[in-house]
Amino acid sequence: MTTAAIIVAAGRGIRAGGDIPKQWQTLVDRPVAAFAMDRFASHPAITQLIVVLNPDDIPTDLWPRTPTATIVEGGETRGASVLAGLNATTDDITKVLIHDAARPLVTEALIDRVLAALETNEGAAPAVAVTDTLWHGADGKVQGVQDRGGLYRAQTPQGFHLAPLLAAFAASTGQETDDVAVARAAGLDVTIVAGDEDNIKITTPADFDRAAKLMRQSMDIRVGNGYDVHRFGEGDHVWLCGVEIPHTRSLQGHSDADVGMHAVTDAIYGALGKGDIGVHFPPSDPQWKGAASHIFLEHAVALAASQGFTIGNVDCTLVCEFPKVGPHQDAMKAVMGAYMGLESDRISVKATTSEKLGFTGREEGIASIATVTLIKT
Ligand code: MG
Repeated sequence: MTTAAIIVAAGRGIRAGGDIPKQWQTLVDRPVAAFAMDRFASHPAITQLIVVLNPDDIPTDLWPRTPTATIVEGGETRGASVLAGLNATTDDITKVLIHDAARPLVTEALIDRVLAALETNEGAAPAVAVTDTLWHGADGKVQGVQDRGGLYRAQTPQGFHLAPLLAAFAASTGQETDDVAVARAAGLDVTIVAGDEDNIKITTPADFDRAAKLMRQSMDIRVGNGYDVHRFGEGDHVWLCGVEIPHTRSLQGHSDADVGMHAVTDAIYGALGKGDIGVHFPPSDPQWKGAASHIFLEHAVALAASQGFTIGNVDCTLVCEFPKVGPHQDAMKAVMGAYMGLESDRISVKATTSEKLGFTGREEGIASIATVTLIKT
């Protein structure tokens, strides 16, 4: 049995406010939809991730590129978008989970519950029993009380066996409000699975604050620092934060001696508690002689990603009298950002002199200090 996850991200989300659709607005550190995309992409039981996009959004850079995702153009209605997703499943898929892009707090445990229920049921969907008293109201006044017995608040992901769901969509009138309604109209049984109070759907501006608060409760935030020094020797250029700068001398080292990039790389290793560059790329190993330092940085970034961390921000300070760093700061941020998959507004490269004091002041070498944050949600 293989399972596809279909994330429906084709809506316009106007009730949430903002200039762009809600699923692409930033929540904590990335677009709302990126959380669900990451959650399903990393779930061991999900073999295909399908993301249904609004045709207007496809050419934009609003949505996060996930190399393994199948991107599908959505339709006029939610139902048409889901059907487009179902039609994009690969031949080996037998089950599907359909999820709202605007529910970023879906957990692996909830996905597991829906999958477990699908083992013995045609359909399974999470829901939370209504516990508040329900009123009928009009003109700002209570008109009556609705019996809440047997009432549930429906959530996603909603899971189905693919073949019967496709048959249900083929027979659909297009009037149903969600996938469970489509399935039930075709006679499929849908089992209720215990939902999760925190699996909220972002609908209004206030929901962003609520989701961010919930997320921070379970967030793993790490800080790491890095410090590095390289001495000057003969040469005519230095590498600093990935940029080659002409100079009257060069920094000496086993690699290209990019002191800034080394400090940033060590800060990432430090936040992960995974040693430093010397541990991963021993100076005794001749294969790293003269190596471009972005190899080290990319390794540290990949190691962080493999442990579920994204980089929040980077702050790097270079300590030297010369060369002057200012003219190269923007290029340094762009180069480091490209290696780290990070927007340049999350990267800072600063420089200071040491007032002609110490080894940097005597221009014997360059020092660098860096701080990074890593975030796992
Ligand atoms: Mg170094």
